[in-house]
Amino acid sequence: MDVLEKLKILSDAAKYDVSCSSSGSNRKNKKGGLGDASPAGICHSWSDDGRCISLLKILMTNYCIYDCVYCINRSSNDLPRAIFTPEEIVDLTINFYKRNYIEGLFLSSAVFKSPNYTMEMLLQVVKKLREEENFNGYIHTKAIPGADEDIVNKIGRYVDRMSVNIELPTEEGLKLLAPQKNKENILKPMNLIKTGITQSIDDRKKFRFSPKFVPAGQTTQLIVGATKDNDLKIIRLSEGLYNSYGLKRVYYSAFVPVSNSPKLPLIKSPPLVRENRLYQADWLLRFYGFEAKELLDEDKPDFDLSLDPKCDWALRNIHLFPVEINKADYTMLLRVPGIGVKSAIKIIQGRRFSSIDFFDLKKLGIALKRAQYFITCKGKYYGIKSMDSQIIRNQLVESPSIEKKYYQLSLFEQVSPEDKYIQIGGQL
Ligand code: SF4
Repeated sequence: MDVLEKLKILSDAAKYDVSCSSSGSNRKNKKGGLGDASPAGICHSWSDDGRCISLLKILMTNYCIYDCVYCINRSSNDLPRAIFTPEEIVDLTINFYKRNYIEGLFLSSAVFKSPNYTMEMLLQVVKKLREEENFNGYIHTKAIPGADEDIVNKIGRYVDRMSVNIELPTEEGLKLLAPQKNKENILKPMNLIKTGITQSIDDRKKFRFSPKFVPAGQTTQLIVGATKDNDLKIIRLSEGLYNSYGLKRVYYSAFVPVSNSPKLPLIKSPPLVRENRLYQADWLLRFYGFEAKELLDEDKPDFDLSLDPKCDWALRNIHLFPVEINKADYTMLLRVPGIGVKSAIKIIQGRRFSSIDFFDLKKLGIALKRAQYFITCKGKYYGIKSMDSQIIRNQLVESPSIEKKYYQLSLFEQVSPEDKYIQIGGQL
């Protein structure tokens, strides 16, 4: 099989992994070297179905010894298989880079022969790229659950980012759909990466030229909708991962039905609205000071699909509103639906000079469509003349055709400028 055929098979197989994104990695080019990783991170493209795909996003191989029911590459699936040699991936990366097609490499793999064998192949690629080709561009690789500490530590010295995919939120889910995996094997490399990052940061405080270890941090991916796990379980898990393992991002991937196993739910299309709600809630955990227990609880374990989680929280806590824009502190401003992190900062800065009125808010980019019900400006309320949460909810709920509006991480669909701004900036 020639390299182009392999590329077709293995880049297509990689599209189900969404755990890649801009990284914030910052490695300068060296004399005689090739490329650099700019602070803005790797450039991305978005595939037809809206998934985020870096321009060279490939699997080393789709031959897999495991048989995870939800995965297209499972060993029992009859599909064309291919495997790259490390040299072929190095050549592709360098050639694509020189032609300006890519700014980095996202290299994942199915489990070929064993976790250690697969990681050895990944190590050969990144070592060749860095040491023989002097490649300074961005590299993101997988850490395969079950691989030894030594090899995880070696790869971590060469790459910008690593990710270990959790895939299923609970151990019961793993037992049912991916019985060859277990929670410990997944969390072990995650812990190794976390320890390596902390160690490297400490070392570099003492010795400036001490080598970096996974400088752009680690990420993971969770599949949504392949098991009966509710949103509360998922968002609690994400919160735990951010707090305990210092993850940069948790990516949520709506389950794509690629098998008719009776162990899987019968769905016609991926639950994209639910995926979107989880991304919004994740944003609230990371940037808005919310805790998982404020967003959901045992009595309400799933997000409202017709309303974003921040609006939903505000309506359940309507007694805290309206807040006066010229007086509320930063923490409370962040809790107002329609006011994002950047807008809250602009409000705090702007009101140092003069009081802000309703029309100033428009100029600051605040989503007044939502914010108007929860604020006063100079004492004046611009929402409907009632603070009844049900009446406000009726004004805010999205249309019944909501499912049609959501595409996975797409920037190119016909959405309103305000919604596009929210998609890009995560302002809620
Ligand atoms: S180990 Fe990974 S590639 Fe292999 S079947 Fe499971 S999810 Fe798919």
